Amino acid sequence: MRPHRAHSPGLTGVLPLRESRHLLEVLRAKVGDRFTVFDVDREALAEVVELGPPVRYRILEERRPEREVGVEVALYPALLKGDKLAEVVRAATELGATRIQPLVTRHSVPKEMGEGKLKRLQAIAVEAAKQSGRLRVPEVLPPIPLNALPKVEQGMVAHVGARSLVREVLDLGKSLALAVGPEGGFAEEEVELLQEKGFTPVFLGQRILRAETAAIALLALCTAGEGR
Ligand code: SAM
Repeated sequence: MRPHRAHSPGLTGVLPLRESRHLLEVLRAKVGDRFTVFDVDREALAEVVELGPPVRYRILEERRPEREVGVEVALYPALLKGDKLAEVVRAATELGATRIQPLVTRHSVPKEMGEGKLKRLQAIAVEAAKQSGRLRVPEVLPPIPLNALPKVEQGMVAHVGARSLVREVLDLGKSLALAVGPEGGFAEEEVELLQEKGFTPVFLGQRILRAETAAIALLALCTAGEGR
């Protein structure tokens, strides 16, 4: 079987049905095949002992690789049209976000998110965690209104009119909260409210980025750009 990482909550020795079907139908697993199982903060080398479904496995060896940024990284992207948040959740998971919670803002076109869409975004986070070798799947939470955001230890808001650059304000010794506006941008009062909550406006270059690109660029500067 080719190398594979399967999400197995609790590393119980039994794979969830979706993972079992992937192993059996796509990877053609056989008894004795080895693969990796992972959960929130655990990872282990495992061996298939029964095909089922569900696939049953035994753990051969536990490992603890370090793939996290080292501080909590919350991303607060504004609600976006269509399926754009799927791209944001996928990339944000790869880039080390620990929490992703959409914001309802003045200029967001959608003002809410259905249960089905939230579940799909959560499934995308699981897939992206697997693909990027992370043990921790970021929480993907239902949207909140911008004014319900808590005060943060260290925050940045991507804003076209900002003067500060990420590298001038970033401190990776502190937890991080990142906010990005919707297609129509943040209203000035919203940027002021975010500043009161501890978010510094930051500039992401001379071009106007799509909201999805801006979220990914901001996060990449804070994690990948710092080797974290
Ligand atoms: N006309 C809108 C404005 O001036 O805010 C453009 C919105 S842009 C398409 C969507 C979001 O991406 C913005 O609210 C901001 O958070 C972020 N963004 C896009 N380009 C940016 C840049 N060059 N610097 C900082 N933030 C940017």
